[in-house]
Amino acid sequence: MGLAVRADLVGKTPYGAPPSTTAITLNVDESPHPPSPALVSALQSAVGVAATTLHRYPDREALELRADLARYLTGRTGVPLTVEQVWAANGSNEVLQQVLQAFGGPGRVALGFEPSYSMHPILAAGTNTDWVGVQRPDDFVLTSELAVAAVEEHGPDVVFVTTPNNPTGTVTALEVIEAVCAASAGMVVVDEAYAEFSAQPSAVSLLAAQPRLIVSRTMSKAFAMAGTRLGYLAASAEVVDALRLVRLPYHLSALTQVAARTALAYADELLATVEAVKEQRDRIVVRLGELGLTSVPTEANFLLFGPFDTPHTVWSALLERGVLVRDVSSSQGLGRWLRVNAGTEDEPTAFLEALAEVLA
Ligand code: PMP
Repeated sequence: MGLAVRADLVGKTPYGAPPSTTAITLNVDESPHPPSPALVSALQSAVGVAATTLHRYPDREALELRADLARYLTGRTGVPLTVEQVWAANGSNEVLQQVLQAFGGPGRVALGFEPSYSMHPILAAGTNTDWVGVQRPDDFVLTSELAVAAVEEHGPDVVFVTTPNNPTGTVTALEVIEAVCAASAGMVVVDEAYAEFSAQPSAVSLLAAQPRLIVSRTMSKAFAMAGTRLGYLAASAEVVDALRLVRLPYHLSALTQVAARTALAYADELLATVEAVKEQRDRIVVRLGELGLTSVPTEANFLLFGPFDTPHTVWSALLERGVLVRDVSSSQGLGRWLRVNAGTEDEPTAFLEALAEVLA
């Protein structure tokens, strides 16, 4: 029986890496470090207190959480931010969806530089926004010339720049983002999901001068809280007001809000794992060279490695040895590459040993 699903959704496949059936999961960019016993216990008591008022709706505006996020982001970037400039939702995926609901939609165009995060076009499709994917150069590094020419050609209502970029790990210089803002009549969304792993200054520093700039972030990656589902953005207060028109009422549960606030109080402890993750990433890079492979220069917690003539065969052979990496090779011009996450010390060791076997 044919369902009356929207014609533009028929035949599409849902986003998502295959679920892990192996001990070593290096395919979804999470932190490999679980919360400390102290944080677990703080979460238990905070959730316990929140549980006593679960007959009530949560704070619809999540004001305390947004104030904490504003403080956190100001602390990380040195840029003063008010609660009115910060917005939060269930993961940065929802934040980005709300951005497209407010600024995209039928008859409007969103543009991204591919390969990049494959949810951007899927969110565009879901909000009936036309998608333009502009190919990055061979080194995946975005230049002002390429970006500005694309914006001038397509006149998008929303431009996505992901830095560090997923899946390439490459970063985009602030000058390029400034050039994109200058060329755009629409919104410019800088997706900084992996920013805490990078030495690049945040685009938050451009907000005061760029009224149509949106910087999105997440607690899922360096912040090691993927299960909490908390993403956020910084922008002008006018942008945040526009998002309030499309968000569902009470979209952030009381439990999410309290868990995120508790985790933010442990920010220093949570972010202390960033250096360990970067060390493992850099160790993988060195060993890949010894194995005769290359990787794309990365400032994220993952890297592209290859090149392979038959990447899917390598992916399967690694899986047979109990290591799950991401097969990105079938998408967006990534034909010869696979992506792997840096994990705890044991995980890259297992990955590198399995890879050496596969290559032998
Ligand atoms: N942006 C980028 C670039 C990502 O890689 C991801 C997660 N894969 C997200 C946003 C969404 O993450 P979350 O919804 O967990 O915040």
